Amino acid sequence: MLDWFLLDFGRLASAAPKSRGDKDYAQRVKRHAMSSTLPILLSALAMTLIVGFRYLLTSGLFAWATERKYPGLYAKLRPQIGREIYWSLLSAAIYGIPAGIVAWGWNERGWTLVYTNISDYPLWWWPVSVFLALFAHDTWFYWTHRWMHRPKPFKIAHAVHHASRPPTAWAAMSFHPWEAITGAVVIPALVFLIPMHISALALLLTIMTVMGITNHMGWEMFPRWMVNGPLGNVLITATHHQRHHDEYRGNYGLYFRFWDRLCGTDLGLGRFAHDRTESDNSQLA
Ligand SMILES: [Zn+2]
Ligand SMILES: [Zn+2]
Repeated sequence: MLDWFLLDFGRLASAAPKSRGDKDYAQRVKRHAMSSTLPILLSALAMTLIVGFRYLLTSGLFAWATERKYPGLYAKLRPQIGREIYWSLLSAAIYGIPAGIVAWGWNERGWTLVYTNISDYPLWWWPVSVFLALFAHDTWFYWTHRWMHRPKPFKIAHAVHHASRPPTAWAAMSFHPWEAITGAVVIPALVFLIPMHISALALLLTIMTVMGITNHMGWEMFPRWMVNGPLGNVLITATHHQRHHDEYRGNYGLYFRFWDRLCGTDLGLGRFAHDRTESDNSQLA
């Protein structure tokens, strides 16, 4: 894992002054730094564009699905959606920078524990690595999120996310830059800690993207039997996160209800405004 570091150190050492007054030394160090700066910048820029387009495509897809399932659900939220897109695209740039740097390092210097040959680790490791990464992400999210609900950090960082009332499919990355930084470092850090096959990493990113959007889109896409059954007792879906946006004081988790339950902050499942109207109507009928 330290290969990349030793490689860099070795390159720098070979550029060391050969004698006193070696005028080329400064030039060699400068060249060494310059040779990797531009590719790193380009990689960060490319990743920013990828994250931005991924956001527009996936949030757009779920916003379209929302319009088909509940026509007019977002009708009065147009100004809010504009702000959600603004903050989300700003977050895309913040997410793209560390991801771009690590992607460059993976490609050029062999950084990270990401592997491409499936037989490098036993097959059982594949699902375990996905679960461990989800659990680690969930743990980081729970504690930083809970901390951001303290008055000062809330005002500085987290109020932007809660300005969406109710949130929409466009709110998936609607964070203030300070909050975006806490989210942007997670995956680039995890790939140095947990060995993951490239396809396991792709699944992790897909789950992260889809759950980030669907938890905010204002309706439940999973069947009721699942949400109200044993799976819903453990996993977080839109019905659970909706209640966080309604009541603030609990349901801080991201994928699992584990930390909320352990720390007594689980508020249980929420209800959507359209579900309330539907059940009220059926009671009247
Ligand atoms: Zn919150
Ligand atoms: Zn939220």
